[in-house]
This record gives sequence, C-alpha cells and structure tokens, in this order.
Amino acid sequence: MYSKDHTLNWFKGQGIWENIPESDWTSWQWQLKNRFLTVEQLKSYMELSPEEEAGCDYAHKKLSLAITPYFFNLIDRHNPECPIRKQVIPRHEETWVSPEELLDPVGEEGSMPVNGLVHRYPDRVLFLVTSHCASYCRYCTRSRLVSNAQEYDFHPDFEKGLKYIEEHSEVRDVLLSGGDPLLLPDRKLGYLIGRLRAIPHIEFIRLGTRIPVFMPQRITPELCAMFKEHGPIWMSIHVNHPKECTIELKEACDRLLCSRVIIGNQSVLLKGVNDDANILTSLSHRLLQMGVRPYYLYQCDLITGSSHFRTDLSKGLEIIEKMRGHTTGYAIPQFVIDAPGGGGKIPINPNYVKEITATEVILRNFQGNEYAYPLVPKKVNKSLPMAVLPRC
Ligand code: SF4
Repeated sequence: MYSKDHTLNWFKGQGIWENIPESDWTSWQWQLKNRFLTVEQLKSYMELSPEEEAGCDYAHKKLSLAITPYFFNLIDRHNPECPIRKQVIPRHEETWVSPEELLDPVGEEGSMPVNGLVHRYPDRVLFLVTSHCASYCRYCTRSRLVSNAQEYDFHPDFEKGLKYIEEHSEVRDVLLSGGDPLLLPDRKLGYLIGRLRAIPHIEFIRLGTRIPVFMPQRITPELCAMFKEHGPIWMSIHVNHPKECTIELKEACDRLLCSRVIIGNQSVLLKGVNDDANILTSLSHRLLQMGVRPYYLYQCDLITGSSHFRTDLSKGLEIIEKMRGHTTGYAIPQFVIDAPGGGGKIPINPNYVKEITATEVILRNFQGNEYAYPLVPKKVNKSLPMAVLPRC
C-alpha cells in the first residue's frame, strides 16, 4: 500500500526571510514578535481566497489569527489546498455551526475545581497554564478560551492549582497544557515544574505543546537544562502532516531527547489535510526518524465551526487498517474519539475478530486471512515425556 515518498525533502531554511540575520531567525523572541496577526500582513505576502479573507474578518470573534514566520514558511502560497495553510489560515466555513457542535466539546468546564485545573480522572489532572499559543490551529478544541477572542477571561491561578494538587494525594499525573505552556518564560515554567516535582505523590509530569512545530527556536539550551534538571518529562507534540517535519523540528527534538524529555505525537485527523493513509504513514515514518512515537490520532472534536474539518469515522478506521501490517507497529497511532460531554478518550479500532465460538476465536489478519485461536487449553496429556514435545 505504502510507497516511500522521496519527493518530500526535509525542509530547512529562512525562505522569504532569507535576507534577515540568522541570529534573528533562530531567536524565538523574533519569531513571536514577527508573527502574522492581521489579514493585511498576510496579503502582503500571498493572495488569499475570498473564503480565507472572510474567515480572517471573523477570526477576532472566534479564535485569533497568528502564524509564526517559521510556520508561514511551510505554506505553499500558490496553492489554496496546501495542508499547512488550511491549519492556520481562517476560512469562511468557521462561521458555519452544526447542531451537534459545542463550545466545550470534551466537557472540561464541569470538572474544574480551580480555574484552569481540570480533574476528571481520579489520578490525573490537566493544568491549563496559559491561553496563548505561538500560532492558532483553526480546529482548536479549546478555542472557547485560547487566544481570548471569545472573551472567556481566562486567568489561571498557579498557586491555587498547585495547592489543590498538593492536597490531593490521589493525583499522580499532571499534564501542563493551555494554550501552550512553552510560551511561559523559562523562569515561570521552571518554577511550576520544580514545584510539581517536589510534591511526593506526583510521579508523572507531562506537557502538551505545539511550540516545537510552530517555533522550534524556543527549544533553547536554557529550556533544555531546566527539563534535564527535572526530568523525565513526557511531552506530547502535535504534528499533522509530514511537511511539518523539518530539519529545525528534528534538531529541536534531538535537543529535547538529550534532556530527559520523552516525546510522543498527537495528530488530529483533518479533512483535506491528512485524511489519507499514505500521508499519515509518511508522517509516522518521519516522526520515528526524529525519535518521536506516533501516539494518538484524534477524530476531530465537535468544536463549533469545525464541520469542514471533520471526516467520517470510517475514514480514520480505513487509515488505521491500511497502516496495520504494512508498517512498523510503533508507527501506528491509536485512533481515538475524545467523547463529547467528558467521556474521555475512547479507542476506536478496526475489527479483527470475525467470530467467537464456545471453543475458539476466529481472527483475520491484515491480509484478510483467517486464523483460529483456542479459547481454552486443550486437554493436557501429563504423561507425555518432554522428549516428544514438538520443537519450534
Ligand atoms: S497549539 Fe494547541 S492549544 Fe494552541 S491553538 Fe493549536 S491546538 Fe489549540
């Protein structure tokens, strides 16, 4: 099924910013300061379609427009179908609302004992530490609060959140997210992680971030030294398409891996972006080459204004089925639905069980061949001497 894509190179370069000093390009502060934040800025570099212009006009009411120069560089400015472009340039379709869509599609608001702290599962908490990101994904699950475009008025209280975690000894796992926690200054992030590390019942510290993808320059030696001090840190990055796997991202992952950071990837299945087995297999292969484990493939959440991104469930199943058996097991992410209303992540798998009888299960493999596996041990012959046992 899968054929190696030799045409797609690992991109590196300053592209349309080739004339600025490299010291600016490699500075994350420069990247943040020079983000595309307005439709006029975008139009000075590319022609927008009428759908994109209309989307940009609406963005300030839903989810702000922001794109780092680094990520903008990956956009094919002459192709409206570019998968990078679709992820970050607003479109008119974001104004459409389907009845099943929700502002809080995975039901976080009902489980917040402290502003910004979601405690839904007994042993884990999600700590939302900022509402800002380096660039904004047009399908963001937390678009109700991210970028503050919807006047959510998000003000996480770190001390209250830390106190809650200290007082709840059943919590062993903390996921820092937002917004993007890597937008916090080193000092603040180091303080938070240091405080968590000092809590005896906290075993597992995770970060959910798209910064390495939007702005790999942020993975500085100073940040890595902080991770190394407090490691192991588990990091979920968010890469959706092989075009996002650049040399800069690979080098940022190298720095993280050398700093006691274990990296997994979460992709969102998006119509017209990555809803294709070849694309996702190519992505997984690149991730593995970067030392990143493809972890989850999410069915797109029922976010308000996201119907143009959502695929049929059968598409995700078809993709996983095409990957299974045709590539390394490590390359295959778990396809999940984050259940509406707070049901949590539910794995969705192709069905490889054809039938279960009283004595055996009939399985099919990736080629469609059938195999029987006994459900109960057959009668054991205890008198059979070892010497006549079949050898394998
Ligand atoms: S980086 Fe994450 S939190 Fe920020 S807009 Fe994208 S999906 Fe949302």
